[in-house]
Amino acid sequence: MAYKITSQCISCNLCESVCPTGAIKVEGSRHWIDSELCTDCVGTIHTVPQCKAGCPTCDGCVKETNDYWESWFAKYNRVVGKLTKKQDYWERWFDCYSQKFSEQIQKHQGEILGV
Ligand code: SF4
Ligand code: SF4
Repeated sequence: MAYKITSQCISCNLCESVCPTGAIKVEGSRHWIDSELCTDCVGTIHTVPQCKAGCPTCDGCVKETNDYWESWFAKYNRVVGKLTKKQDYWERWFDCYSQKFSEQIQKHQGEILGV
């Protein structure tokens, strides 16, 4: 698992100067993190990832997940959380939708079988 720099980065260069492993790379004004070098700051004197901790933006530096849906929910929760202040909006929406959908299927199957 590594951190990644997003389009919200304002190129302040802070993360480059604090990264203990030299994982922050800079190409022009574009910053990115070399996942081969990023250790999440584990094994260093730091207790939290320095790039994320020091970034002056809200989501300029975020934890990258390997799981597609985990990443999808994390991204949309951040966006929706900003708009609604409800961090788990999409999980609750999905749970509710799944429950209603399975109720409809069971009802439909019951009608077909005449139960
Ligand atoms: S988590 Fe730590 S090692 Fe990884 S890029 Fe950020 S500062 Fe560097
Ligand atoms: S600290 Fe944040 S805003 Fe500054 S260069 Fe790094 S990712 Fe971009």
